[in-house]
Amino acid sequence: MFTIFLIVASFAVIKVLMQIINERRCLDDSSIRLFMLNRLNEKERKKITAHLVICEQCRDKFHNFEFGKSSKEQE
Ligand SMILES: [Zn+2]
Repeated sequence: MFTIFLIVASFAVIKVLMQIINERRCLDDSSIRLFMLNRLNEKERKKITAHLVICEQCRDKFHNFEFGKSSKEQE
């Protein structure tokens, strides 16, 4: 019984850690694009917004994407 608890607890910890890592990991072009096109669900949008708050690099990327989107538009 205790072993099961330990496994569940460590999964919970891993999940939280993954969330933190995901927020800190930089955004790729397709994520930014989907965000701009409003194709992401609530959870994904929050993740990107949270990352933009902490990462200046991605904010720059985001701005460049916004102004340069006509050249890369595929849809
Ligand atoms: Zn970033």
